[in-house]
Amino acid sequence: MIQMVDLKSQYLKIKDEIDSGIARVINNTEFINGQDVKDFRKELASYLNVGNVITCGNGTDALQIAMMALGLKPGDEVISTDFTFIATVETIALLQLTPVMVDVDPETYLINPDEIEKAITPRTKAIVPVHLFGQCADMERIMDIARRHNLYVIEDTAQAIGSDYHFSDGTVKKAGTIGHIGCTSFFPSKNLGCYGDGGALFTNDAELAEKISSIVNHGMEIRYHHDRIGVNSRLDTIQAVVLRAKLPHLDEYNNARRKAADFYDKAFANCPKISTPKRADKTTHTFHQYVVRLNGVDRSALMEHLKAKGVASAVYYPIPLHKQKAFQGFKSDPNAFPNTDKLCESVMALPMNTELNEETLKYITDSVLEFVK
Ligand SMILES: *Cc1c(COP(=O)(O)O)cnc(C)c1O
Repeated sequence: MIQMVDLKSQYLKIKDEIDSGIARVINNTEFINGQDVKDFRKELASYLNVGNVITCGNGTDALQIAMMALGLKPGDEVISTDFTFIATVETIALLQLTPVMVDVDPETYLINPDEIEKAITPRTKAIVPVHLFGQCADMERIMDIARRHNLYVIEDTAQAIGSDYHFSDGTVKKAGTIGHIGCTSFFPSKNLGCYGDGGALFTNDAELAEKISSIVNHGMEIRYHHDRIGVNSRLDTIQAVVLRAKLPHLDEYNNARRKAADFYDKAFANCPKISTPKRADKTTHTFHQYVVRLNGVDRSALMEHLKAKGVASAVYYPIPLHKQKAFQGFKSDPNAFPNTDKLCESVMALPMNTELNEETLKYITDSVLEFVK
């Protein structure tokens, strides 16, 4: 079976470093907050060119902690996209903030800045753009909207670590380092994944960084002196070992994904029933997922066909957030999301990982095309 991800082959290439690093941590028993965690934070900050990286337990925690650090209060409205993994909006609701979901661009799948602007009310306090599937939302416009309306911006970059965003003045910044806080996940299948759960927050604001460091550790700066309500959320040292081994390969990993995406793009270029993912302006694409739109194709039948051929496929995401049972308490106009509604019915993701070779890719695309024609 050709799986969506292939973590085993990737591991085998860096096995010695990972195995010896893990053995070292077990030997020195620095399981929590060991030297590798500290080193990883510095190495990631240097890669991203950001002032501060604070690691935490997972990407969902990172989002929650970001909103806590910004002092958002129950009733504050937070604008985010309707087309994302639930964690983005779940954390807003968890803190008793009011999630306001908006529609996406039908071709890039990214949050639409015009819709953000329309959704702003006097209660709006923050925007959470999601760099979905690996490319950055239109951060130049989003930051401009945020400045004009005095809003915080929390970037959900769980799917786009390593992506570059190009501003019109020529400045280039890494995804997650543009807003007030960036949040990422090191879930194993993410572009930079560990071997369990992990996450991090990025910020250039030293004061915010201090607050975040305190919140992740029970609101504590001096041991057993608790200055604020916090949480317990940390990256363990064994996960930091894995991430330190992988970080130097991140660009190479992302390039391998782009190469696979280019192959898919070419193979489907002349097939009107398959729309390949559009490259958004001003951003590179790190292809956390390769997601096509099917036009007049029976998606479940195609997925069954692929399964029979030994090719995995998946749907990200089958149900828009505004239709999720968990969000029924938040009133939203059911007709306000035509693009998300359509995408949820028509998108399909193909295997995407760092280990796909041309032979495998050809088998996958041939298998798709023999069904779609
Ligand atoms: C994976 C993901 C998260 C959550 O990360 P976890 O580490 O699984 O908690 C949040 N947002 C997006 C867009 C994600 O893809």
